[in-house]
Amino acid sequence: MTGVITPGATIGVLGSGQLGRMFAVAARRLGYRVHTFSPVRDSPTGHLADVEVTANYEDLDAVAGFARQVDVVTFEFENVSSATTDCAARHAPVRPGANVLHVCQHRLREKRFLQQRGFPVTPFHALRDEADLESAARELGFPAVLKTAGFGYDGKGQAVVRSDAELAEAWRVIGRAEAVLEAFIDFRREVSVVAARGMDGASCDWGVIDNEHRDHVLDVSTPLAPVPAGVAREARDIARGILEALDVVGVLCVEFFLTGDDRLLVNELAPRPHNSGHFTFDASVTSQFEQQVRTVCGLPMGATGLLRPASMANLLGDLWQAGEPRWDRALGDPDVKLHLYGKASARPGRKMGHLVAFGTDRDEARSRVVAARAALTDR
Ligand code: AMP
Repeated sequence: MTGVITPGATIGVLGSGQLGRMFAVAARRLGYRVHTFSPVRDSPTGHLADVEVTANYEDLDAVAGFARQVDVVTFEFENVSSATTDCAARHAPVRPGANVLHVCQHRLREKRFLQQRGFPVTPFHALRDEADLESAARELGFPAVLKTAGFGYDGKGQAVVRSDAELAEAWRVIGRAEAVLEAFIDFRREVSVVAARGMDGASCDWGVIDNEHRDHVLDVSTPLAPVPAGVAREARDIARGILEALDVVGVLCVEFFLTGDDRLLVNELAPRPHNSGHFTFDASVTSQFEQQVRTVCGLPMGATGLLRPASMANLLGDLWQAGEPRWDRALGDPDVKLHLYGKASARPGRKMGHLVAFGTDRDEARSRVVAARAALTDR
């Protein structure tokens, strides 16, 4: 078992949100210890970790101290600088490696990386200033989507532009920073593939997941997306190809747009477990979180088969507006599972938890999870 980090060892997680929390559950179940590092105290991951280090990611003395205490470092939050990961890497292996973060934390680098290797991406133009924006809009046409190049997720740092008249305002909204203008895709559906790859280069995935968004934020995810078999095969091949091209050790999610004529376009990569893969915790032989533990520790991967048709619905802070949600109502359906992330304040738009429901098929599972969520605010 050379190179294997065996149970009993300590895994360090950069970031301390819900992804780290579910990772910590999986790691502890396998007998590992977990340390978490972020600027936040009393965090979702910290509640379950053996040690919660509270410091800024730029505090390299603190990063070095953290990395010295652990056997491997992974992350649940990818917007940390290369100075931070390079510093950690001097004391412990960092998986996935710094190159993966470098590509995935910058839209432009990510798109160019994918395009150069022949993966299909949304048509785009790189922008340095407002003059670039006008010429790019002329070429791509309207509507188009303006996105900041760095540090964007869940629709943050984005603006849809529908005419020349809206360009200046959109440029202001995204903060006049380095940006990308993308063609607006009138997609048929949004799908994702969560995949994992081990140190030996073996890879696996959880199939094609159907994603429904509301206000640019994921709302409901249902595995076994109803797409033609050829499209499903292609999406999984693309995802595995991207993990291979990036030499990922760990988990990575590829988000796609599927057009009306069944073309797949990669929208975005997330080099970690993803919200669309949360159903795997309850519904798959091995969850995305357990697979991250196994891969970054050099253990063989577990099977990814679906145990039962399932569907997941996010619980945003908005649900708390009229008081504490009626958990008893949602859990009145015995085929519903509740996950809460331990966040103290329920701000609108904040991801507070999720529900997973099972059914005899994907449609029934989806209806049940949506009904269970609606029951939370049934007064
Ligand atoms: P992103 O942060 O890039 O994943 O975008 C969040 C959501 O905004 C996506 O899941 C889509 O629903 C929508 N969106 C982003 N880019 C585009 C686009 N080029 N065309 C149409 N919709 C988009």
